[in-house]
Amino acid sequence: MTRLLAGSTIATARPVRLAVVLCLALLSACALPGSGAVTVPRPRVMTIVFPLAADSVRFTSGFGDGRDGDRLHKGQDMFCPRWTPVLAAASGTVDWISTKRPPKEKGYSLLLRGDDGNLYFYTHLNNDNPGRKDDAGEPRYAYARGLKNGDRVAAGDVVAYVGDSGNAAKWGPHLHFEIHIGKWGNAIDPAPSLQAALAARRR
Ligand SMILES: [Zn+2]
Repeated sequence: MTRLLAGSTIATARPVRLAVVLCLALLSACALPGSGAVTVPRPRVMTIVFPLAADSVRFTSGFGDGRDGDRLHKGQDMFCPRWTPVLAAASGTVDWISTKRPPKEKGYSLLLRGDDGNLYFYTHLNNDNPGRKDDAGEPRYAYARGLKNGDRVAAGDVVAYVGDSGNAAKWGPHLHFEIHIGKWGNAIDPAPSLQAALAARRR
């Protein structure tokens, strides 16, 4: 009798234990934000100026898309015609631009340090001379005429021109745009901010 009771206790304990484990697994998978069990990044929407003076822009590769090797895509690609003016997404200071022609594989980039404390990175800027596709353009055709490192810019100022420098030649002219919160390396998905900025411009 004792053995029978012990046996039935074990028999019921197993399904109960299994149910508890399943419940815990389900709870952690469906945890509400803030419970600490699972962190679901909430999309951050920064108030910026849409960084292209183009009415029609095609969003393609987005944040987190795979790249060669283990690299992940840290920004948003936006296709539009070559020479489309590229605009300062925020008021701030030109932190870095290329002062001479970069190696072909690197291309022209621009880093803007916003007064909001965030960094805005632009790349694949134009590297062609006017009327040509020669990959031989000087910095004055990549950036707004006369722009220098350390210059102050206002949100919406023209800072550069769309191109296909760096490894973009095989895809065609587009702007690769990144937002880093507070410091370099803190990249967020810029798409929600870009979509909001585009919607605000169209209003
Ligand atoms: Zn890109």
